[in-house]
Amino acid sequence: MGMYQECPQKYKFRYVHMLPEQPKYYFAFGSALHEVMEYIYNPANPSFPTLEEALSFFKTHWDSTSFDQKGYQYMEKEAQGFEEGRRIISAYYGKHGNTLKHPLSVEMKSTLDVDGLSLISILDRIDYLGEGRVQILDYKTGKTVHREPDQLLMYQKVAENSPAVLQLVQRVDPAVKQVRVERLCFYHLPSLQELTFERGDDKEMYEFWQKVLGVADEIRAGKFAPSPEENKCRWCDYRNICPVFTGKEYDGPSGWGAKIPNVPPPAHNPFAAPAPAAAPKTDGEILSEKIDRLGALTQEEKRLRGEISALMDKLGYKRHFGTKFRAERTEKEKTVFDDRQKTLDFLRSAGLLNKTLVPTQSSIAALLSDPSVPEETKARLRALGRQERESDLQITEAE
Ligand code: SF4
Repeated sequence: MGMYQECPQKYKFRYVHMLPEQPKYYFAFGSALHEVMEYIYNPANPSFPTLEEALSFFKTHWDSTSFDQKGYQYMEKEAQGFEEGRRIISAYYGKHGNTLKHPLSVEMKSTLDVDGLSLISILDRIDYLGEGRVQILDYKTGKTVHREPDQLLMYQKVAENSPAVLQLVQRVDPAVKQVRVERLCFYHLPSLQELTFERGDDKEMYEFWQKVLGVADEIRAGKFAPSPEENKCRWCDYRNICPVFTGKEYDGPSGWGAKIPNVPPPAHNPFAAPAPAAAPKTDGEILSEKIDRLGALTQEEKRLRGEISALMDKLGYKRHFGTKFRAERTEKEKTVFDDRQKTLDFLRSAGLLNKTLVPTQSSIAALLSDPSVPEETKARLRALGRQERESDLQITEAE
């Protein structure tokens, strides 16, 4: 019931498809200590085992499976688990070794058919308190222990209604007609602490049982909608085949002997954090981007102009049309002055230097068409340069 409440889809994988979960080291550790407690309190043995015998039993049980079968990742961790188990058993004997007494039963598997349900429970230990009253004790081996009302109420329901428990009690007290659970205990083995809870009252029991029947109805109706939560799904053995992650119903191996298929993790993760929103750009960053864009466009323009000019040369075109623009080439002669110093010396000696505000190629060439410069001086200046054809490519919008 706990698994169905945790996630109906998980329950379906486990109990409808019958795919066992991966071994968990904490279950293996808990199970080994439960075995030892059963060994210590076994009502069939008139005397109790010594600490050495209990430790030896623990070792035999522990060694019957490998570290990975127990669910440990490394042998070192398994060794630590073994040492912790020995510590707990030794401490238990230190506290209870001299006062051990047989309970009514240990590790009693009880089946109860009630309201159309077949309840199977394992009661770790039942102690008889007299006059039909019993105490149910459950061993806990996790890091912490806290009240788990559903588990306690289920034990109460089973113990008070199970014919097998009544027969047990009647063996020591034949007059008893009805078993009453007086106390429910969690015994935390790592800390040797016992937590005792009062029996559930009628209202609690009624509400609990309605909840059980409700879950049973849902299971019978085949309602197994997944209830994903990040923390639950992260540790779920069925994650790689779960519809929440794969986007499709599971259709792999099912039934007795089936195992969870070894498939790679699905790409879809409904819990993946959305990409963080980009921080707004500063004006400086926007300016840099625009400069880079313009630079790239300028380079592209230069390259295109060269390619267009080369093609127009090849085809002998002066003008050509695209669908939206037209290109027009004009050519003119220009004089280029390669020897700058010689040219400047001449301009100085001819008294022309002051006519060029800044003596550049174009301002010097402009003197050749200046009407105020004598033709003879123009000829001497022209002789200092060389003639070159310059082409200009105009791109304009086609009309
Ligand atoms: S992955 Fe999540 S939703 Fe799917 S079965 Fe496991 S717990 Fe349920």
